[in-house]
Amino acid sequence: MTNISRRRAIGMAGAGLAAAGAVQTAFAAGKAETWDLTCGVLVVGSGYAGLCAAIEARNAGAEVLLVEKMAILGGNSLLCGGGIAAPGSDLQKAAGIKDSADQLYRDMLKSGGGLVHEELARVVADNALPTYEWVRDYIGVKFDRLAFHGGHSVARSAAYMKGNGAQLVKPLVEKAKSLGVTIRSRTRLEDIILENGRVVGAVLREGFKFPDEKSGRLIRCRVKKGLVLAGGGFSQNVALRSLHDPRLGAQLESTNQPGATGDALMAAQRIGAVDIQMDWIQLGPWTSPDEPGFGVAPKIVEAVVGYGFMVDPETGLRFVNETGNRKVRSDAIVKTGHPAVLCVSQDNVGHVPPFALEKGLQNGVVKAFDSAEALADFHKIPKDAFMKTLGEWNAAIEAKKDPKFSAKIFDDTKKNAGKFYSVRLWPRVHYTMGGLAITPKAEVLGNDLKPIPGLFAAGEICGGVHGMVRLGTVSIVDCLLFGRIAGRNAAAL
Ligand SMILES: Cc1cc2nc3c(=O)[nH]c(=O)nc-3n(C[C@H](O)[C@H](O)[C@H](O)COP(=O)(O)OP(=O)(O)OC[C@H]3O[C@@H](n4cnc5c(N)ncnc54)[C@H](O)[C@@H]3O)c2cc1C
Repeated sequence: MTNISRRRAIGMAGAGLAAAGAVQTAFAAGKAETWDLTCGVLVVGSGYAGLCAAIEARNAGAEVLLVEKMAILGGNSLLCGGGIAAPGSDLQKAAGIKDSADQLYRDMLKSGGGLVHEELARVVADNALPTYEWVRDYIGVKFDRLAFHGGHSVARSAAYMKGNGAQLVKPLVEKAKSLGVTIRSRTRLEDIILENGRVVGAVLREGFKFPDEKSGRLIRCRVKKGLVLAGGGFSQNVALRSLHDPRLGAQLESTNQPGATGDALMAAQRIGAVDIQMDWIQLGPWTSPDEPGFGVAPKIVEAVVGYGFMVDPETGLRFVNETGNRKVRSDAIVKTGHPAVLCVSQDNVGHVPPFALEKGLQNGVVKAFDSAEALADFHKIPKDAFMKTLGEWNAAIEAKKDPKFSAKIFDDTKKNAGKFYSVRLWPRVHYTMGGLAITPKAEVLGNDLKPIPGLFAAGEICGGVHGMVRLGTVSIVDCLLFGRIAGRNAAAL
């Protein structure tokens, strides 16, 4: 984007918009005395980032209004696994695992492939442990499982034996309400109002019924201190995602909630906010075509990589490092053109949360077999090649070294024999690494590369924290942490 002034950006956006948008722009430009409501800090989005921003802004003394466009609070945060990368946690200490903020930082840089904005990753890595402790001690969430995720150098994710991200959303909502944050659902941010280049308010659509763009009515909200955008990613916006990555059309499903459409991000673009790395969109390599959405497969898959092995059912051969990062694995599966089959023996599933295995067997995502041969027969995998692959994988386990793809083999990985489980895998659009450019203080940069006064952003709506590949459970730390930073800084104005 060329360096145009923010006032002109509004004008251009208005001119290019469809009728409804043009009305909004005129509405946004209305007179100051027409404010329908006033708040100190306005937070857009009720996921982890928005809730944390609201809590911290309230704790800093601001009057806080949080708006959520959907009927249900929580966004993707409600659906997610809910694990938090926490180097040096009590869970790691109990398991005898040595880790540090520096080690997490190095893992983030490695997986981000040169596109990580180092100053942002540093903030995340240095504050991951205190963020976990804040959630545990201040919000009161209990974590009872230590999990490994591909691309991390050690098991460092604090997770739950049972449950998901909802376990963290609910107490955050309760905390926000108990502090006096006003929360309005079915209220969508339509436009941001600037005066002399500073955010002074927002146009909101109350009574919004997703996805009816014209439902409800427009109101104008005055923002005395700061506006925090925490509207999440755009994995469900097929037009926007395929504009940036034409491969990601409607043929690919998404794990996200339907409202993950990036409209808060686009409202910021209309006032001249800069976006970065929008074409880095992550596919989840662990979703199964045998169930909808995120499903239960990811919980199983991530607990058996490094124990079992994955084959291309047409060849019976392994084709990628099963413990590699999400991009490495997704790209490799998509390249084969058909679902992969993950295979693991029954005595290697000790780290799978029991509820997940039970559910997977019930909904048919996990298939159980009396032998490796029966698994090969069921999936129509060439048997000789498959048995050779099994033999090679078991030899790698014995040697504690995978000569083919350097997959991680854990101390407690056993040779795969006897009864087996399988899961078919086909990636889905999962996470958008790109988004608004922010400073370490969560200030949103305008297209003059200076912070737009009064505008902050946090969570998946931002870009640059993760670069090419986001590591599992690092988004949650990012959202919680930058949400807190954004809320505090918005309240301080
Ligand atoms: C199924 C699933 C599993 C995941 N598992 C993990 C995991 O284990 N670890 C990890 O680190 N990450 C995980 N992620 C990613 C992580 O959950 C998300 O990146 C994170 O929850 C995003 O939080 P957020 O607060 O930025 O956005 P969200 O939680 O998505 O919240 C944004 C909210 O803003 C609302 N909104 C958007 N636009 C507007 C508007 N204009 N006006 C009003 N409201 C608006 C949306 O409706 C939404 O409710 C997972 C994601 C999914 C989908």
